[in-house]
Amino acid sequence: EEMRGEASFDKRPRAVPGYLYSRVTPTPVADPRLLAWSDDLAAYLGLARPAERGPAVDALAGNLVTGSMKPFAARYGGHQFGSWAGQLGDGRAISLGEVTATDGTPWEIQLKGAGPTPYSRRADGRAVLRSSLREFLCSEAMHYLGVPTTRALSLVSTGDKVVRDMFYNGNPQAEPGAIVARVAPTFVRFGNFQMMASAAELDNLRDLAAYVIRRYYHELGEPSEEVYVRWFEEICRRTAVMIAHWMSVGFVHGVMNTDNMSILGLTIDYGPYGWLEPYDPDWTPNTTDFGSRRYAYGQQPNVGLWNLWQLARALAHLIPDPELLRPGLDLYSATFEQTRHEMMLRKLGLTNLQPEEDKALFEALHEALGESEVDMTLFFRRLSHTVPAVLANPDSAEAAWGEVLAAATYSASAEEETQLRQWLGRYLVRLQQETAAPEAIREMMLGANPKYVLRNYLAQQAIEAAEAGDLSVLNRLMEVLKTPFAEQPEHEELAAKRPDWAREKPGCATLSCSS
Ligand code: AMP
Ligand code: MG
Ligand code: MG
Repeated sequence: EEMRGEASFDKRPRAVPGYLYSRVTPTPVADPRLLAWSDDLAAYLGLARPAERGPAVDALAGNLVTGSMKPFAARYGGHQFGSWAGQLGDGRAISLGEVTATDGTPWEIQLKGAGPTPYSRRADGRAVLRSSLREFLCSEAMHYLGVPTTRALSLVSTGDKVVRDMFYNGNPQAEPGAIVARVAPTFVRFGNFQMMASAAELDNLRDLAAYVIRRYYHELGEPSEEVYVRWFEEICRRTAVMIAHWMSVGFVHGVMNTDNMSILGLTIDYGPYGWLEPYDPDWTPNTTDFGSRRYAYGQQPNVGLWNLWQLARALAHLIPDPELLRPGLDLYSATFEQTRHEMMLRKLGLTNLQPEEDKALFEALHEALGESEVDMTLFFRRLSHTVPAVLANPDSAEAAWGEVLAAATYSASAEEETQLRQWLGRYLVRLQQETAAPEAIREMMLGANPKYVLRNYLAQQAIEAAEAGDLSVLNRLMEVLKTPFAEQPEHEELAAKRPDWAREKPGCATLSCSS
């Protein structure tokens, strides 16, 4: 379907009124070399792993544009940290077009870091290796955890240096450049619709909505006022499910601006994200957000709603009465609550016997975890293994809980431990009401509580090794994160508590937006 796209191929930064996207070609780099490749995704797309250098890698670096590609950068806007930022757009991401996967579905391939576009504003259109590696690894890790996400096919080094102002030491540094090939059905964001609404380009707004519905929500039927309403509800539902997943695995996106919200409910734009180590609702990895903590772990459900509210304001132009969009927002809240509750049940090995009491039980757990310094991933994983033993022999409970806490706690005062221990006592009583066999309970828990997540310091270790030319750390992590719910005894150390040295280290505990 043809939509209003600007065909000038002009890369100079500027406002591009009237268009949904701009045709623009990637800018070639010095020496494209393949660093990492996602085998499973490639097999699904029907692509063979290329050699380290050659035409395929040239294409993945933007050095080779074939006749069948139609490279473009999308025009979008967004609310950044709560304020409308006007036109943003793909400032360094260039979509090459689509490939048809082995099941016949089309997938968009987008190069992130492929050079300037009309939307680059004052920046260079490039990405550094550290941030590209983080996006590559995390999008794949999230997929294997079962979290709705965009995918990553390849990580290519460019051979060029990129200068970034590293806020935490104040010195601009030349860093190695890289390009990730991202893959998703589409990279359309809330911000695409907001841009068109804000510029009063209602034909563009309607065309884009119709395009997205016909291609990605065709089960809703032909676009109409009524279908727009149901479409918004479905976006709300998917966004709620996505954020419930984040909460369940301890993922903090870090920059939930409305331009970083996918219209398909996928996790998109991996920047200064992080993983909860000590459980803390107030934690954010993003140094830019240290003041307001707007995008902290515990804020994510609220921000999801706020962002959907902004999308609703844009889509309101398509329907007779904006009030028709309110049920979508209510559906978001209800879906989030329900999905989160179901996920917590599985994390704790419970079935839905007494929803109201369990709600209180879960709240008490979050409170007790928040009061202590307990590693979220380790706590739930250890608990999964411990529950059958405690059920078999309740007299051993005190000792068994003690082992869980010792394994998962960074530094708890006796008082903090008391709160968690009290909660564990309450949990045991609740567990004893379940009729499932202890082994079945354990299996349920092991399937909901990952052993391996992309701990912030692990990503940093992969980066430091890769910058020094050693890809083995990255390769090992990629392999282990493919089966995050499996015990992998030979990789036990990748499931360990965050080491002390990583506590405050930039890259391990804190990240800037500079990438
Ligand atoms: P982000 O915070 O990464 O989602 O980016 C916000 C906006 O800044 C988007 O429009 C990006 O395309 C743009 N942007 C970020 N980094 C660069 C860069 N190095 N060059 C050009 N545009 C960029
Ligand atoms: Mg972005
Ligand atoms: Mg805590």
